[in-house]
Amino acid sequence: MKLDRFDHVGIAVSQSALEDARRVLEDVLGAGKPREEVVEEQGVRTLIYKVGDAKVELLIPLDEEGPVARFIERRGGGLHHIAFEVEDVEASIQDVAKAGLEVIDEEPRGGVEGSLISFLHPKSTFGSLVELVEFPTQASDGR
Ligand code: ZN
Repeated sequence: MKLDRFDHVGIAVSQSALEDARRVLEDVLGAGKPREEVVEEQGVRTLIYKVGDAKVELLIPLDEEGPVARFIERRGGGLHHIAFEVEDVEASIQDVAKAGLEVIDEEPRGGVEGSLISFLHPKSTFGSLVELVEFPTQASDGR
């Protein structure tokens, strides 16, 4: 497999910290206005800020149940994952599993912008949750 490019960093933010996070990103850091998308499958609402060729993805839990909600409960929010674009996420998962890495999503699941994603377990990737993301080909030049 091969990482094509760095795509985004995911930051977990609780509902109660969201206004402050938006103020810092939008009004202080000048990240512009986000695009918003709910990903029911992951139990999150996402706010996506385009920064140059990459993105900052705020993850706000929709309820108290999902993995992001649990992450916030344990760690108080903050850096959640880093994401790299790959051409073929399914083939990539097979490659990393073959190399002995632990894959969280053995079958790719749906992410934002019609993407297919899979997470690699942090214990296989030096303590950081890593997301592999494949975008639909027709959208590849529109980001
Ligand atoms: Zn992500």
